[in-house]
Amino acid sequence: MRFKKTIVLALIVVFVSLPFVTYAADQKADLTSEQIYEKRMDLYKKVETLTGVTWEYLAAVDTYERGLRRALNNRPKEEGFISIYFNEDEWAGEFNPDKADTNPLSIQMFGGVGLDGDGDGVADRFNDEDVLYTLAHQIEQYGLNEEDFRIALWEKYKRDQSVRIIHGHALVYEKFGQLNLNDHAFPMPLNYNYSYNNTWGDRRGWGGRRIHEGTDIFAGYNVPIRATAYGRVEIKGWNKYGGWRIGIRDLDNIYHYYAHLSGFEKGIEEGSIVAPGDVIGYCGSSGYGKPGTQGKFPPHLHYGMYRDNGRIEWSFDPYPSLKQWERKAYQDRKKKK
Ligand SMILES: [Zn+2]
Repeated sequence: MRFKKTIVLALIVVFVSLPFVTYAADQKADLTSEQIYEKRMDLYKKVETLTGVTWEYLAAVDTYERGLRRALNNRPKEEGFISIYFNEDEWAGEFNPDKADTNPLSIQMFGGVGLDGDGDGVADRFNDEDVLYTLAHQIEQYGLNEEDFRIALWEKYKRDQSVRIIHGHALVYEKFGQLNLNDHAFPMPLNYNYSYNNTWGDRRGWGGRRIHEGTDIFAGYNVPIRATAYGRVEIKGWNKYGGWRIGIRDLDNIYHYYAHLSGFEKGIEEGSIVAPGDVIGYCGSSGYGKPGTQGKFPPHLHYGMYRDNGRIEWSFDPYPSLKQWERKAYQDRKKKK
């Protein structure tokens, strides 16, 4: 009996406190994605004015860390609009006996990085302005140009891949001048014949024991292949498995891998910034041998997706995303008619 009573009591406590806990999240849930982008941009611009660190750099780090929060399960979901994360030790100082310290002076004394960005006298690691200002200050110390930014990122993350991804995000924001860059496209135009099934995880014969890390979309030679997201071309060239292949990193830190191409679109190079729907190359059957090898299998696009979590990168099944982008493309085409 006593056990039952405890459960009932616990349930009451949960239900009574639920509205208070979810209140902050609800406020954000009521906003449209456009309004969320606006709020974020206001915060970036405010801190840019205070520190001289451009909004594109702030947005790039924030976007990278938003991707990390999605990829890691040991970080809480952000409460506000900014995703940049500092742990207690970083924020308050490793030897600070008060791990939840919000006093800018004692934080500084213990070597913590936390600063008061909104001028309320408190350095709160869950306050958007304080967090963003603290990040801007970390960047600002190394200077304000592109190379300084890369050095600051290296000092913060100590990982080439993280520097490359964040620098790429900044270049994407510089090119398009806005935060709303979440559109996607299906990699082939709908008016070509193509077919695909979910073949993720199938065994592959060539080149030793491997599993199939992607979806094969079969189509004729030279069907245009298009970027599926906003992003930056990270790799372009030959690979013995993938043949002529191209890799594009998007703003969710996801790497999109396009393999077995017959060739690349003119002007697409490593470092190119692309938008969804931009042609990047053409369907082919290259790969499984030395550079230029083709025809060892029917022409198709091998499409892979890889997620980065700040330490490692792993492949996940692209089939559901492809289905979703294809459905959306059909709906958009209907609307236009
Ligand atoms: Zn494949």
